[in-house]
Amino acid sequence: MIKVKKDFDNVPVILKSPNRKEAFGKNIYDGNFNYGKDLYKVGSVQKRLKTIYNLKCAYCEKKLLDTPKHIEHYRPKDIYYWLAYSWDNLLLSCGSCNSFKGTNFEILNNRVIWTDETFENIHNLGDKYDELEEPMIINPEKENILDKIGFNKKGFIFTNDKRIQYTIDTCELNREPLCKLREEIMGDFIETMEGHYEFYILKKDISGFIPTVQQFLKNYKIENKFYAFRYFIVNNIELFFDNGKLADVVKIIFLRLNRETL
Ligand SMILES: [Zn+2]
Repeated sequence: MIKVKKDFDNVPVILKSPNRKEAFGKNIYDGNFNYGKDLYKVGSVQKRLKTIYNLKCAYCEKKLLDTPKHIEHYRPKDIYYWLAYSWDNLLLSCGSCNSFKGTNFEILNNRVIWTDETFENIHNLGDKYDELEEPMIINPEKENILDKIGFNKKGFIFTNDKRIQYTIDTCELNREPLCKLREEIMGDFIETMEGHYEFYILKKDISGFIPTVQQFLKNYKIENKFYAFRYFIVNNIELFFDNGKLADVVKIIFLRLNRETL
C-alpha cells in the first residue's frame, strides 16, 4: 500500500448522472444496495482510477496489466449502500484483495448510518466518517504507511501497527503468490552482490557492486509494482545481508547512488 494522490473535488461526471441518482433514491428507500449494481463499474471511472493508482492494486500494489481491474469500495457497498457511487469511496484493486476484503470493515466506534445525505453530497463523506467510526483498515488514499511497514527477503510484510496488521490480515497481503512476486524483486541481487564481495576485499575496489545497484535503483519508481517493498529495501538494504562488512559497504553505495538519482 502506498498513498496515492486523488483529487476528491474533481468527481467523474458520470457518477452524478440521473440514472445513478434514481438508483441512489431507490436504495435509500430500501435501506440496501439493491439497484444500479453495475453503475459504479464504468469505463470513465476505471480510467481515472487507473491513472491515480498507476495501474496498481490499492492494497497489494500488484500491477494490473492482464488481470481484471476491480473498482473496490473502501466502505463496503453492501453495508454503506448510499456510498456505492461515492468518489472518495472508490479504489482500484485486484480481484483477490477485493474478494478477501469483501464486507470486512471493522471499526472502533459506532457505525454510521444513512441519515439525510443527498445524492449530491456523497462524494466527500470519508473524512467525517473516519473520525466518527475509526476504521481499522488503512485507506491508501488518505494514509502514508511507508515508514510503518517492513519486509524480509522472502517478501513477507511485517508491522507493529495494529491497523496495518488488520489490513494485511484482511486482504491477505502475505499470501504466497504475492510474497513470491515480491521476492522476485530482490531476485539474485543478494547473490550477485556477495559474488562481488571477494573482488572488493582483494582489490579494495567497490566498482563491481555499482552496476547491480544502479540497475536496482533504475526500477525504484512509484509507478512500478511493489514500490513499498522497494522503498524498504532502499532504506534498509543492510538488513538483507548476513555479512556485516558487506552490508555496510552496500549501504554506503545505496545512499550515494540513490542521492545521485534523486
Ligand atoms: Zn491486490
